[in-house]
Amino acid sequence: MAKRTVRTIPQARTPMREQDAKARGKNFSEVACGYSLEDALREAQRCLYCPEPACVEGCPVSIDIPGFIRRIEDKDFRGAYDVITAANLLPAICGRVCPQENQCEGVCPVGKTLEPVAIGRLERLIDQARHVPKPRKKTKPSRAAKARRLAGKRLQQDKKRLRARPADD
Ligand code: SF4
Repeated sequence: MAKRTVRTIPQARTPMREQDAKARGKNFSEVACGYSLEDALREAQRCLYCPEPACVEGCPVSIDIPGFIRRIEDKDFRGAYDVITAANLLPAICGRVCPQENQCEGVCPVGKTLEPVAIGRLERLIDQARHVPKPRKKTKPSRAAKARRLAGKRLQQDKKRLRARPADD
């Protein structure tokens, strides 16, 4: 079988800005500043939209994670908030304190090759970003987004095939 790479998504996880060490010694604000909208749009591009998303199984309250990430990619931040709050009313808190590395992010298949999608950071942003109006024009999914969705489907098909294969003696 041909070797596949995760080349259709941004390879590196989007970093989160932190307060300068000197500045944070003089205030009580959070050290981690959170994602900007641009950061979130970039990080959302790293999701493969797995048809059987392991991240949802890894989430204790089963948030529709690819559903909210898809809305971020569509710049529908209010829609993303609605998807999250259908399962969890505290995205601002859970995005900060949940041990995502042992839950949703810990099982994200992107993490097998690269760093997993930064689900917690995206969740954290959504509480603030829900007031940002959605752009009027509906844009078609980009070729890259289509390619990523296809890559996610193929990943699931490969998994199914592997599960169905009889074990070697
Ligand atoms: S497991 Fe990772 S790549 Fe798959 S839908 Fe969830 S966040 Fe996206």
